[in-house]
Amino acid sequence: MSIDPAAELPFYYGSISRLDAEQHLKLAGMADGLFLLRQCLRSLGGYVLSVVWNLEFHHYTVEKQLNGTYCIAGGKNHCGPAELCEFYSKDADGLVCTLRKPCLRAPETPIRAGVFDSLRENMLREYVKQTWNLEGEAMEQAIISQAPQLEKLIATTAHEKMSWYHGKLTRQEGERRLYSGAQPDGKFLVRDRDEANSFALSVMYGKTVYHYQILQDKSGKWSMPDGTKFDTIWQLVEYLKMKPDGLVTVLTEACVNGKAEKTPSLPSNRPKVSSAGLGARYTPPPGVGDLPMDCSGFNPYHNPNDIKRFNIKRDQLLMDEVELGSGNFGCVKKGVLKLESGQIDVAIKMLKSDNEKLVKEEMMREAEIMHQLDNPFIVRMLGLCNAECLMLVMEMAGAGPLNKFLSSKKDTITVENIVNLMHQVSMGMKYLEEKNFVHRDLAARNVLLVNPQFAKISDFGLSKALGADDNYYRARTAGKWPLKWYAPECINYHKFSSKSDVWSFGITLWEAFSYGGKPYKKMKGPEVIRFIEGGGRMECPSACPERMYTVMNECWTYKHEDRPDFKKVEESMRAYHYSLSNKALVEEATAEAAK
Ligand code: ADP
Ligand code: MG
Repeated sequence: MSIDPAAELPFYYGSISRLDAEQHLKLAGMADGLFLLRQCLRSLGGYVLSVVWNLEFHHYTVEKQLNGTYCIAGGKNHCGPAELCEFYSKDADGLVCTLRKPCLRAPETPIRAGVFDSLRENMLREYVKQTWNLEGEAMEQAIISQAPQLEKLIATTAHEKMSWYHGKLTRQEGERRLYSGAQPDGKFLVRDRDEANSFALSVMYGKTVYHYQILQDKSGKWSMPDGTKFDTIWQLVEYLKMKPDGLVTVLTEACVNGKAEKTPSLPSNRPKVSSAGLGARYTPPPGVGDLPMDCSGFNPYHNPNDIKRFNIKRDQLLMDEVELGSGNFGCVKKGVLKLESGQIDVAIKMLKSDNEKLVKEEMMREAEIMHQLDNPFIVRMLGLCNAECLMLVMEMAGAGPLNKFLSSKKDTITVENIVNLMHQVSMGMKYLEEKNFVHRDLAARNVLLVNPQFAKISDFGLSKALGADDNYYRARTAGKWPLKWYAPECINYHKFSSKSDVWSFGITLWEAFSYGGKPYKKMKGPEVIRFIEGGGRMECPSACPERMYTVMNECWTYKHEDRPDFKKVEESMRAYHYSLSNKALVEEATAEAAK
C-alpha cells in the first residue's frame, strides 16, 4: 500500500541512523558530492539527504509538505524524492555542493524498514478490519481506494490504540498507576488533559514521577517543550524512546493500561478524518466526505459468499413495486432477499415472461459471467431465481447510474468526488482485465452508485470471458452496439479486448467530468466514426482537470497496441486521486485551524 516513493532509488537506504549513513559514505570513498538518501524519523514521509563535501558530512532534512510535495528548508518544492535529488544534482541551490555521485546501496543491503512503516501498515489493516469488518481482497481494495484518508485517520488516532495510552486520567491517578508494580527508569504513560486535544506524558525516573505537557503548535504538530516536532503523538513517543529530547530520561517500558484489551477495540463511533497532524476533528457535512465503506446494513464491500447462491428460492424474495430501470430484456425492480442472517436490499433484473429462448440464454450468460466476478467495484450477483420469470438477483446500488446522478447534482458534487469514483471504476476494470474478461458496454449509464462515494460497474449483458490464450473477442456480426463508446478496432474489425474497454473508459471519464453530458453532442454513430478516423477527439469538458483530460486522450489512442492498459490507467487515476485527497484534507484542516 503506502509504497515509499524513494524505494526505487538505488541510493536510498530506508530508516538508517546518521552514523550508519556516515559509515556508508566513508566506505564509498568520501568523494566530494557523494550522497545518499535515508528516511527521516521526525516527519511523516520525510527524508534526509546526506552529502560529503571536503571530507565532511552534511545532512539535509527533506520535508514532506502538506500538499504532498517535498522540499529542503528554504529550497524549491519537488513532486517526489527522485525529482528532488535530480534537481540538486544540477543545481546546488543552497547545498554545500551539487549531488555528484550516488552512494549505491549494496545488493545484499536491503532498504531498512522504519519503525513506523510496519506499525502504520498493521494499524491500517487492523482499523479497516475492525471498523468495516473487511478481510482479504476486499480489505486490500478498500485500502487502495481510500489510502490517503485512511492514513490520516490512523495517524491522528493511532495513540488511542497503544498500550501506553490511558485516556482521561488525573495526574494523581497517573502517578498511582506508575508507582504500582516495578518502577524502572523510563516507565511511562500518556493521558488526556482536561482541555480538549491536550495530552500529558508521565515518566518514572529515580522512583519519582515527572509530568510533561505535550504541546501542539499552530500547524498541529506535537512536541515536548522546545523539542522536535512530530505529526502524531505516537511518533513522538517512538522518538522519545530513542532520544530524551529534554526529558529526564528516554522512555523505556509502557505502563500498560490495564483496561485495554489485547487487541483494543476501536471506537464504535469512528472518529472523522482529521488532517495531517491537526488535532482538530474534521466533521464533514452529512453524506459528504463519508468513506465508501460507511454503508448501513449490508456492507457492499464485503464478499457476500455466505449469501451467494446460484439458485434463489422464490419465497426468499420480496418484490417491491419500485422499478429501478428498464431495458429491452424487461425491467429491474427493487426487492429484499430474506436470509437466516437477516434481510438485504437487492436489485432484481426480470425477464419479460413472454420472452423467447434466445433472450433467456443471453441472461443466463450474463449471470454466468457475473458469478465469476468478485470485486468491491463490480456489482455482485447474488443468484438466479426461476419463477414467474427468470430473475437475476444482484446487490443493490441504490444511488443509481452515474450519468443521472451527476446531471442531477451538478452543483454539489466536486471534481475530487468524481476522481474518487472514476478511480474505483478503473480498479474494477483492472480486475476484469486481470481475469481476462471484456466488458464491452462500459459507459456512465452502466456505472452504478451505492452512495456518492462508492461506484460499481454493472451490466454484463455484452461481456465475454476470453480464452486463456486469447486477448480479444471477435464478434461475428455487429449488433445494437454503443458505437460512441467503441474503439476503432471494434467497429472496423469487430475485435474486442481490454484495450477497447480502455477506450470506453475514456468516454466514461468524459461523461463523468461533463456531469452526465452526452458524448459527441448531436453527432450520429457514422459521423462519430468519420470524426475519429480523421483524428478528431472530444474537447476537454469545462470542469475537467487537465490531468484527467490527458488520461482520456491516452485512452483514445487510435492503435490499441499503443493504448495504455487498465494497469496503467488505474495507476494514473490513483496518483491523481491521492494527490487531490491529500490536498483536500489539508485544506479542510487549515480552514478548521483558522476558526
Ligand atoms: P440493460 O442491459 O438494459 O442496460 P442494466 O443492467 O444496465 O440493463 O440495468 C438497467 C437499469 O436498471 C440501470 O440503468 C439501473 O437504473 C437499474 N439497475 C440495474 N442493476 C441495478 C442494481 N444492482 N442496483 C440498482 N439499480 C440497478
Ligand atoms: Mg445498461
